[in-house]
Amino acid sequence: MSNEKKPIITKEQAEEIKKTYPTPFHIYDEKGIEDNAREMIEAFSWCKGFKEHFAVKATPNPAIMKILHKLGCGMDCSSLAELMMCEKCGILGDDIMFTANETPAEEYEYALKLGACITLDDLTHVDFLADVAKKGGYAMPEVVSMRYNNGVDFAINNCIMGSPQDAKYGMTRSQLTQAIKKLQGYGVKKFGLHAFLASNNLGNDYYPTLAGILFDTARELTEETGADWAFVNLSGGVGIPYRPDEDKPDIKIIASKVKSEYDRVFTGEMKPSIRTELGRYMLAPYGNLITTVLHFKHIYKEYVGVDACAANLMRPAMYGSYHHITALGKEQEPCVNKYDVVGGLCENNDKFAIDRMLPALEKGDVLAIHDTGAHGFAMGYNYNGRLRSAELLLQKDGSIKLIRRAETVDDYFATMIFE
Ligand SMILES: *Cc1c(COP(=O)(O)O)cnc(C)c1O
Repeated sequence: MSNEKKPIITKEQAEEIKKTYPTPFHIYDEKGIEDNAREMIEAFSWCKGFKEHFAVKATPNPAIMKILHKLGCGMDCSSLAELMMCEKCGILGDDIMFTANETPAEEYEYALKLGACITLDDLTHVDFLADVAKKGGYAMPEVVSMRYNNGVDFAINNCIMGSPQDAKYGMTRSQLTQAIKKLQGYGVKKFGLHAFLASNNLGNDYYPTLAGILFDTARELTEETGADWAFVNLSGGVGIPYRPDEDKPDIKIIASKVKSEYDRVFTGEMKPSIRTELGRYMLAPYGNLITTVLHFKHIYKEYVGVDACAANLMRPAMYGSYHHITALGKEQEPCVNKYDVVGGLCENNDKFAIDRMLPALEKGDVLAIHDTGAHGFAMGYNYNGRLRSAELLLQKDGSIKLIRRAETVDDYFATMIFE
């Protein structure tokens, strides 16, 4: 087993933290985040100008963004609020990729204002962006990126997005040619080529395969249009092992296979840099959702009711995703009982685990739900009047820092009109 599921905190730490911050809460491991990010950046250091733009949507927290930015990461945004978060964190200009779809005019305008690097999702957005720029008094950017949807299934993944032909994202191959010509007409000097064809890919072949396609496409497009490439953006999609019997992708092998493709294609003067927009790979393993056992119930099955629910972590309810669970302090005990671990929403899919073998649990046991550092808190919502939890950071010195307070009922009532 290459992927030991070790909780971020011990039972003793959890009991101590609970005195100040009641469960449920999300906790992140600063050292884990930093070590992983450094390894990732190092793996691609062969590529001049390489930059990982962390997908803000995965974990939209200023403290997390700042940790990554300090290590040299940019950000990838897809909405106005995410752009504004970057601005508030002092992350500006080309450190921001703005890769949105169905994008409103005011979001493009804000991206122009911050000097973000914009990825266009569709051919029709070329004129749309030019129009926004003109009305707002902004020059067209020197560099514009385009999202490509090649319509071809990857045979190598367990993908969440489905077939690219059913995906709403990106332009076709012939539209890329048209987009470049139009953009050149608007005075754009350099281009970026972006594609995101499949999410949560285990194994080491997704990026290299995608890179091969994008590098070849970029070179062909240069032959067709004379386009000069600033970068190729491999976007997100490198997976993490949610199950203990899965292997973590090897980022060193991935990066060296991407280099082979790069060296195969870019033999001339043109040497675009590479960007990535990883979310899950950068953060998921370094977050746990900590929750306390409230109730037991035996009807047709054996249920463990906890104080977290799908409003704190939607992936199991939404995708049937596996998240490993550890009973803190019972790590060494045999998994002898079969439970459904459930939250309190009035929705029968509010189940963190179904038929999961765990040690014999008791009321008050604290559970760590693993790999919740990305697309965890971020997908939270207020259904059933559930309030979003706090987010905590286990700092490198072992201390705990509150990086987002829990919502209160006053937050929940703030938009309501009582009269
Ligand atoms: C969601 C998203 C990402 C991150 O995807 P992961 O699977 O978390 O790596 C990157 N880029 C774009 C445009 C996205 O929408």
